[in-house]
Parts: sequence; structure tokens; C-alpha cells
Amino acid sequence: LRRKCVLGNWKMNGSLAANASLLEALVAALGKVQNVDVGVAVPFPYLAQAQQALGGSPVRWGAQDVSAHASGAYTGEVAGPMLVDFGASFVLVGHSERRSLHGETSDVVADKAKAALAAGLTPVVCVGETLAEREAGTTLAVIGEQLAPVLALGADAVKRMIVAYEPVWAIGTGRTASPEQAQEVHAAIRERLRQAGAGEVQVLYGGSVKAANAASLFAMADIDGGLVGGASLDAQDFAGIVAAA
Ligand code: 13P
Repeated sequence: LRRKCVLGNWKMNGSLAANASLLEALVAALGKVQNVDVGVAVPFPYLAQAQQALGGSPVRWGAQDVSAHASGAYTGEVAGPMLVDFGASFVLVGHSERRSLHGETSDVVADKAKAALAAGLTPVVCVGETLAEREAGTTLAVIGEQLAPVLALGADAVKRMIVAYEPVWAIGTGRTASPEQAQEVHAAIRERLRQAGAGEVQVLYGGSVKAANAASLFAMADIDGGLVGGASLDAQDFAGIVAAA
């Protein structure tokens, strides 16, 4: 049986002061969580703060991006081993905001996933279609293309990953995919993972997840938890989502 997993993505939000109270509240609310994998993806400068606050608790921390390279002349990039230095255990790769705003192709995303694994991090590979793609009926084809270079890394690699399905039209819009809509895509992702020899990988849903809609999403057969943006900035909201998992 796959464990449920709920990850927060703070995106480019926070400050030392705001994080201090959020992290403290997370430890208070989730310090005893057992049956669910829980983590937060924080901006790079706050990894040390997250490590300090969350170390010794069951709540893990990670980053929102990673370089495809291990070190070298890549100004502005952050390498996987640097994240590991600060206790990160996972990293998002290919978030739709990276793909659309920073030109990350699916090949780049696969390179980043490979670099993350090489550093000992769990890559959380994000995929998802735009509204135009959904309306054109190409959702599963788009996701297949996004996954292809990642799956080509081979079963041993893919088994150590997490996949997050985040329909672009549901991110930050308050418009969640229905449990049935999400399950249809999750089942297709699961089938591709199975064909790649990694059918037991956790597949998370992301896009306007809230405490109020989390339980019905997480009840679906192939939805193993959530990747939570806005609602992860409030400890009570986030804990409510974890409680639904
Ligand atoms: P929201 O939960 O704010 O819709 O964001 C989802 C997301 O992009 C998480 O990575």
C-alpha cells in the first residue's frame, strides 16, 4: 500500500519573521504525524531556517528547484549537494511556473530529476496541462510528453521519485479539478509509471487543494496525496489537509 504524502510549496513567499511563526505552528500541529509523509518546499535562503525549526520533527523540508549540474560556472543556480548540506530531502522539478516562466523543457526537467537523485534527493516531478490543452482534448498526450524523458531515466531512477499532477488551470485559481477529473489523469500517469517499471511511485495532486476538498481527492484510487500552494502558508489549513490524507 502506498503511503499518503502531503507537500507544501511556499513558492516565493515568506520572510524570516513570517516563517518563524509558520514553522513553529507546523511543528505544533504536525509534530506527531505518523502515517503521512509531510514536507514543505521553501525558498532557497530559508533552507537553514527550515532545518533549524523542523529538524527532529517528522516534517521534512526541501527546495523548489535544483540545477541540472552538480557544481561549476552556473551563476545563480543552486546544486543538489548544496540542498543536501541544509538537510533537504526532496526538491520540486518542472513546476508549471518554472516551465512557463523560465522556459524549462521536459528534457531539462529530466536532467534536473537526474541531478537531484545523484545528490540523494527525491525529485518531485511536476506535470500538468493548460486549459487550452484540456479543451483541445490533449491532456493525456501532453502529460505523456512531459513524462517521457523522465521515464527514460529507467526504473531504478523513477522508483525513487514522486510525481505531482498539477493542472495549470487549477493552480492558484480556486478551481480544483474534480476528484474524477484528477483520478482519470492519475490513472493514466500510474499506467505509464507501471510500464516504466515503477507503478508504486506516489502521485500527488496539486491545484487549489484546501482542507475542504482534500479528503474527496485523496480518496481516489491513484491520488496519493497533495502538493499544496496557497493553503500551505497557513499552518492550520495545511494541517487540515494532512489530516484528510
Ligand atoms: P495552489 O495550491 O495555490 O493552487 O498551488 C498549487 C501549486 O502550484 C503547488 O505547487
